[in-house]
Amino acid sequence: MIPSKNATPQHWLSLANADWKTQMKHLIQSPDQLRDFLNLSDRQINEINRASQLFPMAITPYYASLIDTKDPQCPIRAQAVPTIRETDFASADIEDPLAEDHDSPVPGITHRYPDRVLLVVSQMCAMFCRHCTRKRSVGDETHTPSKDSLKNAIQYIRDTPGIRDVLISGGDPFLLSTKRLDWILTELNGIEHVEIVRIGTRTPVVLPQRIDDELVNMLKKHHPVWVNTHFNHPREVTAESKKALRKLADAGIPLGNQSVLLRDVNDCPLIMQNLVHRMVQNRVRPYYMYQCDLSRGIEHFRTSVSKGIEIMEMLIGHTSGFAVPTYVVDAPGGGGKIPLTPQYLISMGTRKVVLRNYEGVICLYSEPPQKESSCPADCQYCDDLTPKSKPTPKGSKWATNVGVGKLFDDSNNVIAIVPENLERVQRREENYQENHQENINDGEKND
Ligand code: SF4
Repeated sequence: MIPSKNATPQHWLSLANADWKTQMKHLIQSPDQLRDFLNLSDRQINEINRASQLFPMAITPYYASLIDTKDPQCPIRAQAVPTIRETDFASADIEDPLAEDHDSPVPGITHRYPDRVLLVVSQMCAMFCRHCTRKRSVGDETHTPSKDSLKNAIQYIRDTPGIRDVLISGGDPFLLSTKRLDWILTELNGIEHVEIVRIGTRTPVVLPQRIDDELVNMLKKHHPVWVNTHFNHPREVTAESKKALRKLADAGIPLGNQSVLLRDVNDCPLIMQNLVHRMVQNRVRPYYMYQCDLSRGIEHFRTSVSKGIEIMEMLIGHTSGFAVPTYVVDAPGGGGKIPLTPQYLISMGTRKVVLRNYEGVICLYSEPPQKESSCPADCQYCDDLTPKSKPTPKGSKWATNVGVGKLFDDSNNVIAIVPENLERVQRREENYQENHQENINDGEKND
């Protein structure tokens, strides 16, 4: 067998449809392997070397075979082949932009939202995407969780009754052996309060051969299992990837797609529209379109937020509602996903709401004459549905009066949620104390 590092393009291209283990043995990891294929100069090889020393390079023969070697702007190449721009760290860059490590009660778990957790099971990927938000850790064997570490993370889930949804991610969970994944899913299945498991994977895009019968038959045992994949460009939807998606969908697995908005890759309304149409044709629901994170070394992929809004403007109303992903900014610092849409609410009076649609039609929606309570006093629905593990907050009928939810809950008098240490509020309090002191002093004088 020819060692992976010495394999020629002719050799690895011949493996583009080989089984997944063969492809993993022949990953393209050395820039020299791309020299003839992409007609690279010594300077370019040197630059790729420098970038891949910071963030490792790995490309599957299958994904490399999709590169248009005549197009230097090829969107497949842009996602796979390192460039020197990855060595430029911008002032806005953050090592861990989503503060996943800060919200980690035990290694392998990020617990950000009340009822769901991220469980990181692997740091290996079939391909190291150049725009990866977890560049700080993927490909680093020292970050790969051991079985004991996974047991510890699963124990945290077992001990935390509020968790109903576990997102398994990495790296790429489908790079684990089917046996190891089966063990993880079996452990999670055994936890009564875990209602669903989601798996995030890019293998249908970069290594579709991984979706083999053994994997799919194993996943079927653990329903409800959802799978989210990561297609960014219509050119990634090939006969092989369609086959992989069909296998998963035929196994009853609901499929979603999370795209990242990437400069010069897919930052175009027509490309995105084409992509979402290819997704729904293959029974994949476009789920998120992410604004690119502030991770180090990917600033050249970032677009403005206005570009994302422009794309959403060209999707909403112009195609089926279920083909429209939610455009989100994952809040730097760990605030979670913040959805953004073009502005459709033009104005609101006490009885009337003025809206516009995708065609620019401005319309009036009349509110009902009586402002109804948001929660009828005699309704038993919450009592019946709220799990014992997640009691309704004291005094409230709502099980989810966290954050802005508090403002909708009629059982309290909360009218605003104000951040701690807000300067305006502090100033107000200082003024109050000063005035109050003056009144006391005046009162003392009058006495
Ligand atoms: S597959 Fe996902 S985790 Fe792995 S490099 Fe690509 S984006 Fe990052």
